[in-house]
Amino acid sequence: MKTAAAGKGASASAKKAAPAKKATAKKSAAKKAPVAKKAPAAKKATAAKKPAAKKPAPAKSSAPLKKAPAPRKQVVAPKKATASVPAAPAKTVAAHPRGESRTALVRRARRIDRELAEVYPYAHPELDFENPFQLVVATVLSAQTTDLRVNQTTPALFAKYPTPEDLAAADPEEVEEILRPTGFFRAKTKSVIGLSKALAEQFGGEVPGRLEDLVKLPGVGRKTAFVVLGNAFGRPGITVDTHFQRLVRRWKWTDETDPDKIEAAVGALFPKSDWTDLSHHVIWHGRRICHARKPACGACPIAPLCPAYGEGETDPEKAKKLLKYEKAGQPGQRLKPPQAYLDAGGRPAPPLGAG
Ligand code: SF4
Repeated sequence: MKTAAAGKGASASAKKAAPAKKATAKKSAAKKAPVAKKAPAAKKATAAKKPAAKKPAPAKSSAPLKKAPAPRKQVVAPKKATASVPAAPAKTVAAHPRGESRTALVRRARRIDRELAEVYPYAHPELDFENPFQLVVATVLSAQTTDLRVNQTTPALFAKYPTPEDLAAADPEEVEEILRPTGFFRAKTKSVIGLSKALAEQFGGEVPGRLEDLVKLPGVGRKTAFVVLGNAFGRPGITVDTHFQRLVRRWKWTDETDPDKIEAAVGALFPKSDWTDLSHHVIWHGRRICHARKPACGACPIAPLCPAYGEGETDPEKAKKLLKYEKAGQPGQRLKPPQAYLDAGGRPAPPLGAG
């Protein structure tokens, strides 16, 4: 992971320069045209009138991507206001996409991903690993706990049991002691030892790079398999974890509740090559801003594209206080707004120590 993260970090810093400039440019543009003020006044009326304007669109649900320009109106105007100041979009709400055509949905979904890619250019798996074996074990251990907790635990585990063969032959009680801080340590010990045995006996001590093989390993489901494929083998995969499920439903990308169906529905909205990074963007946004209980809508950079805007705190100042930000040793710690977590462009800054 450190290698991968370092690579990401390098490209992230390269990318960062551009978005920063953009943000400045957009900021001045936003100041010239009072876009944000127009929206609130027209908001209710627009919301009420929209369905009538949309009538012709649903009939073209199977139209190719290049058609159906009408729904674009929903998202273009507010974007300028958001891109400049994340806290401001509170008042520039996108119309609810009920009746949104397939084309419009694809466009909105991809636009959300592009926005998130600018906000989190450094997004990467937050588990530390140096090889596929470490990643698959760390991912299994991350169930019901934070990545940070896992990262604090795995160095001792991998120092003592560096290979699948070592862990397969380990004394379960000793492994349990190491894994105790991650919770459910007995079940996790059983999984990682069983997983290591399977790797040693069936795959020559190597983690397989195929989905169908990975999901046969003890404790490995599709979610874990895609994390491994996407981040250790560079094969595109969508990681449908709890954040991903919550956010794509809030964004009305799909109404499915079954993770496999969500994976299929969301996968159909994006090119395969985007899947792994998309997963990181969505998960990072879920961890930092779009929380389960109280999303920080008033500080959300994609508020104008989100039909669930208003589900959380819309007051910008109050919303800023809800932003979560992991600091070494203090999972989920909330820092004081705003400089503590916003960069010069007003966007959430990377976690401390992130590449
Ligand atoms: S629910 Fe709120 S925080 Fe979440 S994406 Fe929508 S506007 Fe942003």
